[in-house]
Amino acid sequence: MKVLVINAGSSSLKYQLYNMEDESVLAKGLVERIGMDSSILTHKPTNKEEVTEVSEILEHTTAIRKVLDKLTDKEHGVLNSVDEIQAIGHRVVHGGETFKGSALVTGEVKAEIRRLFDLAPLHNPPAIMGINAAEKNMPGVPQVVAFDTAFHQTMEEKVFLYPIPRVLYKKHHVRRYGAHGTSHQYVSKAAAAYLERPIEDLKIITCHIGNGASLTAVEGGVSVDTSMGLTPLEGLMMGTRSGDLDPAVVTFVMNKEELSISEVNSMLNKHSGLLAISGVSSDMRDITDGMEAGEANSTLAFEMYEYRLRKYIGAYAAAMNGVDVIVFTAGVGENSVVVREKVCQNLSYLGVEIDPELNKIRSGEPRRISSANSKVEVLVVPTNEELVIARDTNRIVQEAKQAQ
Ligand code: ADP
Repeated sequence: MKVLVINAGSSSLKYQLYNMEDESVLAKGLVERIGMDSSILTHKPTNKEEVTEVSEILEHTTAIRKVLDKLTDKEHGVLNSVDEIQAIGHRVVHGGETFKGSALVTGEVKAEIRRLFDLAPLHNPPAIMGINAAEKNMPGVPQVVAFDTAFHQTMEEKVFLYPIPRVLYKKHHVRRYGAHGTSHQYVSKAAAAYLERPIEDLKIITCHIGNGASLTAVEGGVSVDTSMGLTPLEGLMMGTRSGDLDPAVVTFVMNKEELSISEVNSMLNKHSGLLAISGVSSDMRDITDGMEAGEANSTLAFEMYEYRLRKYIGAYAAAMNGVDVIVFTAGVGENSVVVREKVCQNLSYLGVEIDPELNKIRSGEPRRISSANSKVEVLVVPTNEELVIARDTNRIVQEAKQAQ
C-alpha cells in the first residue's frame, strides 16, 4: 500500500509518500507560505533531483493539488497516477481525552477534532484544513489521524491533574495532555528493540529535544509522565518557549508591563527560552558556537538549558523509582554532542557514564553512547514521526477493509 502522510500547519504543509511494502520513502516535501504572495513548494523525490517551485497557493486544497501534480510529474514524479495512493495519514496535535490512539477519519471524528479547537487553537484548525483538502483532491481515499497527545493518555489522574479547583477540569478540560507522543512512543520502542529487551521490563526516559522539547517517563511501554502540559509551553526550557515558571510571573508581568493575553502568550511562546537568555538565537548550534567563543549570554543560556533538562531527568528517575535507559532524540538530542555530554556528566549519581568517543559518532541509526560500565543505557535514536503515522494509517485502513 502507498500512504501519503500529511502534516498541515496554518501556512505550511509537509508531506511524505511511503511504500508500505518495504516502508521506503518515495518522495517528501514541503509547501511554505500558503496564503501569502509567493508560496514555495519544495519536492524531494527519492533518487531524483529536488525541485523548487514558486507560485501563488492561497489555501490547502491547492497546496495538495500541486503536491499531487509533482508526485505524478513525468520528470520529478514517483507515481503513474494519483490512484496509487491508497490511504492518507494526518498529524493532529490535540486529541484531548477522546483519542487514545490513531483513528479512521469519519464525520464524527472530524467533529470531535473541531470540538478540540479550544485546546489547540493554533494547531487543530490547520489539521482539519488538511483533511478537507485531501478529501477534495482524493475523494473516497481513506484517511487516518494520528495525535501528538494520544500516547500520553495512559498518565494517571494524580499525574495529569493540576492542583487547582477541580471545576476547571470538569468545565474546561484543564489538565496535562503532553505532546510529541508519536515521537516518544517511536523512540522508546526503537530503544527496546535496539537493546533486544522487552519494553515491558524497562524504565525509559525519552528526551525529545528540538525547537520544542519534552521529556517522557516510559514505564513498561506506556507514558507515565511527560513534561508538556495543557499546552506545549510547560516543562523544559526550549528554543523560544520558557517552559516551567512560577505562574505568578504571568500576572505580575502582565500587570507591570500592561500586557494583553495575546502579548504575554507571545512573550512566553516566541520570545523566551534560549532566544531570550542568549539574546542571539533560539538555535542550539548558535548557542554552543557562542559558548565556545566565550560569549557570556550564550554560556548562561546553555547552562540554564542543561540544568533544567537534567533536573527533569532526575525527576523522572524519581517518578519511576529508577531508570534503565535514557534516549536522546530530535534536532538537539540527535546532533548536539555537547548537550548530551554535559547532561550525562552530571548524572553520575544515577550511575550514568557516557563514552566520549561513542558520543561523537554520527549516524542515522539508533546507537549506544554509554560506556560498558554505565548502570544506565544511554542511546541516541533518530525519531521518525512520519513513519509511525504511515504505519498506523496502513494498519487501520487494512483493518477497516477486513471488517467490511
Ligand atoms: P522541530 O521541533 O521544529 O521539529 P527539530 O527537531 O528539527 O525541530 O530541531 C531543530 C533544532 O535542532 C534546531 O533549532 C537546532 O537548535 C537543533 N540542531 C539541529 N542540528 C544541530 C546540531 N548539529 N547541533 C546542535 N543543535 C542542532
